[in-house]
Amino acid sequence: MKITHIQTYLMHAAPPEAGGWAARNWLFVKVFTDEGIYGVGEASGWPRVVETAIEDLSPLLVGEDPGNIERLWHKMLAAMMCHGMTGIVGSGAMTGIEMALWDLKGKALGVPVWSLLGGKMRDRVRVYAHAHSAERARQLVDRGYNAVKTGGLRNCVETVVAIRAEVGPEVDLMVDVHGPPWLTTRDAIALGRRLEEFDLLFYEDPVAPENIEAIARVAEAVEIPIAAGERHAGVYGVRELIEREIIDVVQPDTGRAGGLWQMKKIAALAEAHYITMAPHDGSLGPVAEMAAVHLLATLPNFLILEHLEDDVPQRYEVMTGQPQIKDSHILVPDAPGLGVDLVEKAIAKYPSRGNLSPPDASYDYQYVWAQQGRAQWLSDEPTPPPEYRAGQVF
Ligand SMILES: [Mg+2]
Repeated sequence: MKITHIQTYLMHAAPPEAGGWAARNWLFVKVFTDEGIYGVGEASGWPRVVETAIEDLSPLLVGEDPGNIERLWHKMLAAMMCHGMTGIVGSGAMTGIEMALWDLKGKALGVPVWSLLGGKMRDRVRVYAHAHSAERARQLVDRGYNAVKTGGLRNCVETVVAIRAEVGPEVDLMVDVHGPPWLTTRDAIALGRRLEEFDLLFYEDPVAPENIEAIARVAEAVEIPIAAGERHAGVYGVRELIEREIIDVVQPDTGRAGGLWQMKKIAALAEAHYITMAPHDGSLGPVAEMAAVHLLATLPNFLILEHLEDDVPQRYEVMTGQPQIKDSHILVPDAPGLGVDLVEKAIAKYPSRGNLSPPDASYDYQYVWAQQGRAQWLSDEPTPPPEYRAGQVF
């Protein structure tokens, strides 16, 4: 069997009127062969840019045997050396192609991808959903969820207090600060210490990921498991976080970490350091989520998977083989490959319209409040100082 060509499918994946952080795209990939079998993958890290990278890489794969996944991955890696470090764009491109190769191999052999990745540790994969209020947490728990995550700095402690009071001590609760560039390491420590009493499953991205020493300082000072890694690429990207045991939970993104085999290598490295894996799923579409389910079925050190409950309607239109969710778990499918396919007609209804995701104006205030209004900064809704004007430089 030989690869004949690779095709990408870029689509808008937010409500039509959405802007700001909600301007989201998904990028799906199909790898075609001369035997009529094709594989499906997804690379939704920075989709519009990654699409171009996939177009660049595709000629390397034409004529190759799609079964030699490790060799093809390293062929792509070596081809990108002249562009600098691989990063999330290069890794994202390899992710979409590599995921499709696993799907293709599974279909060719008539076995599910989890079978190729080492076989099952479990029949279902635990997931959590997002709750930014006690009311939403209650709704999710009533639907069967036993783990929820809240996020952001605004009213963070107050929201955690309200959710804990609403759902009680039995539900796992997580906080994601999203590593904002305006948060100092000392403030991340202060916030973490206030959160210690709520028995969190983890405290995610307490500082921006670029400075590993800052994450290490938070981890040293705060008695909550620390989670990070969603913005890193490949096993190389998270190596130091794992080897120095700075984090307790590693969170590679299935849509940009470099592919399922890279995720497996990250998990293996983490396993040797008693670190668990809870992959990021916050920007992904349905194909990458299902790929994560196949991988996570095989991992001894799997903790939990992020899941976008009540996502945009496109999620439920563009893929066949939707996940079966019951009691806070996705059932591991048994169909060959990933067990999913693209609905191209549905994808074509949502052309991409840009994917920059600029922060809204309130984020300006966060920068301001990080330096002024210190008495309220970490616990109250940041409102602009009276003299503040948008774009003002302090
Ligand atoms: Mg996150």
